[in-house]
Amino acid sequence: MAGGLDLAYIAAAVAFILGLKLLGRADTARRGNALSALGMLVAVVATLLAGGIDPLWVAVGLGVGATIGILAARLVKMTAMPEMVALFNGSGGLASMGVAAAEWIQRPETGVGTAAAIAAALVVGAVAASGSLIAWGKLSETMPGRPVRVPGQQVVISAVALATLAGAAWFVVAPDGGAAGAVLLATAVAALVVGLLLVLPIGGADMPIVVSLLNAYSGLAASMAGFVLGNSALVVAGSLVGASGFILTNIMSKAMNRSLTNVLFGGFGGAPAASTAEIEGEVKPITPEDAYYILEAASNVVVVPGYGMAVAQAQHVVRELAELLEKNGAEVRYAIHPVAGRMPGHMNVLLAEANVPYEQLVEPGDVNPTMDTVDVAIVIGANDVVNPAAREDPSSPLYGMPIINVDEARTTFVLKRSMNPGFSGVQNPLFFKPNTRMLFGDGKAMVGELVSEFKETLGE
Ligand code: NDP
Repeated sequence: MAGGLDLAYIAAAVAFILGLKLLGRADTARRGNALSALGMLVAVVATLLAGGIDPLWVAVGLGVGATIGILAARLVKMTAMPEMVALFNGSGGLASMGVAAAEWIQRPETGVGTAAAIAAALVVGAVAASGSLIAWGKLSETMPGRPVRVPGQQVVISAVALATLAGAAWFVVAPDGGAAGAVLLATAVAALVVGLLLVLPIGGADMPIVVSLLNAYSGLAASMAGFVLGNSALVVAGSLVGASGFILTNIMSKAMNRSLTNVLFGGFGGAPAASTAEIEGEVKPITPEDAYYILEAASNVVVVPGYGMAVAQAQHVVRELAELLEKNGAEVRYAIHPVAGRMPGHMNVLLAEANVPYEQLVEPGDVNPTMDTVDVAIVIGANDVVNPAAREDPSSPLYGMPIINVDEARTTFVLKRSMNPGFSGVQNPLFFKPNTRMLFGDGKAMVGELVSEFKETLGE
């Protein structure tokens, strides 16, 4: 049976790797997701059939997990996806902690290797679990999104991290000693505190980096749990999540022009959410009718979506507007900032759902050099990712983050409901620039009005 199990695990690993590859492109992503899910099903069923586990418990676990997964996928609103992803990262960490603890309870007479894997799964899983809980709180606005610092932050976190490592080392040396249970418990609690202290002081625009880092940690913890159980499928799946999470963290850090150490141990998140620079200029609102006349004459248009497009669920009507603009002779591109929205790939998911052609999506590095040839930049519910203070104001907490330079377009429309700032809490000088016009209102309603204007004229 062991041979059959190994074969099933190899098949599952191949499905995970091919699935991950397919996930790299929007048009193949659904197939990639299905293939990876199939691989996971094969791995779970094979483990079940291999015996040694009470099938009833596995069936109960599968049933509970699948019910939560299906309900979450069906009931959670699209705008609440980022929080759900954060919670799922946390659940992964918790599950790894559970596996590690259960394995030690069943077999305390373990060797150094397994003891090290138990300690690692427990520590990394705990950091992922408590850190993700804070990330969930910040993303869902259950708690303030701004950085929260405890007095002597660096000293406190270093001390607790050292205590965690010391506890883990103690456990590895004497996993069957009389105090091992208490040491393991204390280590887990200390690691949970590290997770809290790590994420609490991070706020504003640095959150995407932390969310992808926690994702990587949950994968790493799962692969450690795989070593604990001697389960190669779990080692492979966990490593893939961990490695892709670390790659994503690196991409996000680059997108923010920040090093990971900088994000975790100082700087940005802790900066006050206000710059000392005075914003000059006046806010110029525009009506949809007047905006239409400018758009009607445009031959080069760039759409910049942000979190507000997700809130307004405006992606379908945005695609409709783009098609009408194209019919009117304009070239339309969508400029996607890597941290737009509230989760990596947020805008790509929404636009793919609305069947926007993937070729029309461009990255900031490609669109920025051409911005002075753009007649109209339409900013829909984006704010931080188009804030010129990131380029111009060294006292701004956003300073240094690469942005989409819509302020260099001939005209910029900003569609939002008010003058409120975005996620970082920083005011945006773009709204006061001479070539900016504010189209105040709900994103979907405003784009809808522009669409109606076009349809009337084009006689559709
Ligand atoms: P922002 O959060 O900067 O701004 C969103 C804007 O949308 C708000 O200013 C809001 O203004 C507007 N808005 C909200 N609802 C509507 C609506 N119904 N219609 C029209 N507008 C609306 O979004 P960005 O996408 O520009 O930037 C993302 C921010 O989130 C960055 O700071 C990023 O670091 C952070 N972040 C990103 C994550 C990721 O992985 N991508 C994860 C966590 C954080 P108003 O209220 O006036 O309408």
